[in-house]
Amino acid sequence: MVLCKICDGESRATHRGTVLGRHQATYHMCVDCAYWFIDEPYWLEEAYSEAVAAIDTGVAQRNLRLSPVLTSVLAGMFGPDGVYVDYGGGYGLLVRLLRDAGLNFYWQDPHCQNLFARGFEWDGGRQGFATAVTAVEVMEHVADPLAFVDTALRETGANSFVFTQYLHDGTANPSWWYLAPEAGQHVSFYAALTLRTLAHRLGMAYHPAGTLHLLTRQKFRKGAFDRAVRFHRCYYPLRKRRLRPRWMQDHEQLVRRIRCASGAAPA
Ligand SMILES: [Zn+2]
Repeated sequence: MVLCKICDGESRATHRGTVLGRHQATYHMCVDCAYWFIDEPYWLEEAYSEAVAAIDTGVAQRNLRLSPVLTSVLAGMFGPDGVYVDYGGGYGLLVRLLRDAGLNFYWQDPHCQNLFARGFEWDGGRQGFATAVTAVEVMEHVADPLAFVDTALRETGANSFVFTQYLHDGTANPSWWYLAPEAGQHVSFYAALTLRTLAHRLGMAYHPAGTLHLLTRQKFRKGAFDRAVRFHRCYYPLRKRRLRPRWMQDHEQLVRRIRCASGAAPA
């Protein structure tokens, strides 16, 4: 019997599938919380030999689309001075865009070489506590979601966790596009009930907003997150007024750091 990693409930096998074209995987669904998962995905290392899978053609448009949404929502709900960490930051494009929008964003990602936001990796010792963690296209990749969120919150001191996720409808349809067995990286799938259960296990509240989700220990009114996401375009100009783009100050900071490292006198 394979137990659910989120609620410890019993699961049933839904189907078998071929992952990465050669590994046999059994998909299980929790009878209690509808967490749908591949148990022991032993091929993950192989799947991550190319961290952002070649078939992920949505990587650029996703980050461009999400940047104003997150800017508006995070600045609105947590204030313009919040400190944020993007877990599973990938190439760092989103962190660069969000810093350019004026948010104080850092990244963490052990699997991918950061290209766009080098110098802004999360180092808790230096940056103190984070206000919130974000995880974009990440939760479907983690084999133990409860441990992942718990670790991210403990490593950053954050009380809120904002993430993207397409929810499954509970029918265990083996041809659902989001299973993406070709790349072998999607191993966890959630229904709304799964996320409510996850929040409960972490002592957090769950606020849904379409494909964006918030787990938090802060008090927010029911529906506040959904409204912030839905009306982000209306709020965006208002939020931007209290934010300053960081690309030039980031450039100057990195130049200072390089000068210090090479022993040159600061300019
Ligand atoms: Zn469960």
